[in-house]
Amino acid sequence: MPMQLISGAVGEGATNAIHDVALVQAILMKITRPPRAVTGIGAYLSSYNGVYGASTKNAINAFQTDYVFASANRLQSVPNPNATAGEVRPGDATWAAMLAQVATDFASMHVLTGGKTVYVEATAAQLQTKIVQANALTFTTVFRTKVRACINEMHARHGIAVGVCDQGDRRTFQAQYLLLQKVPSVTHAGPGESNHNYGMATDIGFAGLRWLHADGAVDNNEKSWLHHLTAASASEANRFWDALRTVGTSAAVGAFRGPLSDRPHLQNWNDATVSMRSRLAVHLQASGSMRWSHASDGYRCDLGFGGALYPVGTAAQIWNLAATVTAANITQARAAAAAAAPPSPSAPRPPARPPATAADATAMRQALRDQFDLSDANWQNWTAN
Ligand SMILES: [Zn+2]
Repeated sequence: MPMQLISGAVGEGATNAIHDVALVQAILMKITRPPRAVTGIGAYLSSYNGVYGASTKNAINAFQTDYVFASANRLQSVPNPNATAGEVRPGDATWAAMLAQVATDFASMHVLTGGKTVYVEATAAQLQTKIVQANALTFTTVFRTKVRACINEMHARHGIAVGVCDQGDRRTFQAQYLLLQKVPSVTHAGPGESNHNYGMATDIGFAGLRWLHADGAVDNNEKSWLHHLTAASASEANRFWDALRTVGTSAAVGAFRGPLSDRPHLQNWNDATVSMRSRLAVHLQASGSMRWSHASDGYRCDLGFGGALYPVGTAAQIWNLAATVTAANITQARAAAAAAAPPSPSAPRPPARPPATAADATAMRQALRDQFDLSDANWQNWTAN
């Protein structure tokens, strides 16, 4: 793509939209005055901020003196019918002269509408690297297509090569469990309770975004989470997150956002009405051999006896072999199952089993964990409804 075109005029009495002023300023920072210029030496501007003021006014005038209203040898001033003194208009002679003079490395710069942070367009090779990386990660086939579409669409619309953040693809239940243990806390979701556990959610970030600091220096080491830009201006960083959300949820991509505060997050379903815990209970039941539900106090399970559901604790407890099931629950579940069994006319009812022991409870904790393992292995078949 060529340089992003300004949306309106910049100069004395012009519209001076912040993004247009910022882009014109950035270009004037990357143009060196011709040798022996009467207007001075070096670049036309030494910093940019999106605000049209005296230094920008002087820079535009000086540039026009040197390159727009000057003869080829710059020895005399000449009129230029396609330029306006003191103003840069979209596509006019002053704009064309700026594009002709700007340093090659900065020949394609962009700025988001309403913003003032100018950045250098990502190359086709940088885009390809992000695509290759996304292809190597774990997602369902359908969602991977959306991840790629999001990456491509961000480049097509904005010239940015976004990519999947670290741990932004499918997380195993064990990875989720480890994430839950982190201090300070980064998630409330236990194993199987995160939208990242099923290959249908991602975190996308801006690692490598080459934006220009106020002094024109290119940031060559930006992080996925825009740590550098956020330090400079949180509102400018949010503009990039908003652009990502807009593209991710566009018809061209078709993903959904998660919580608003989770800015890099995109997923394959609209979770406005989805309880991840209730869906895990459904997924556990579909993947294994026990019946499950989720209540406000945690999960409940029939312990494989087909009768009433007993409280067994949180997903993290079950995963950690610390389910809250008791020997008394097992005794009760067994007795209910025996009582419910249809009486056989040929055989007498078997004698009641002795009460369950602590060892039985330990074995049951392992059996519950086994059901979670089956669900983890069956991740591709999870559904949101
Ligand atoms: Zn996420």
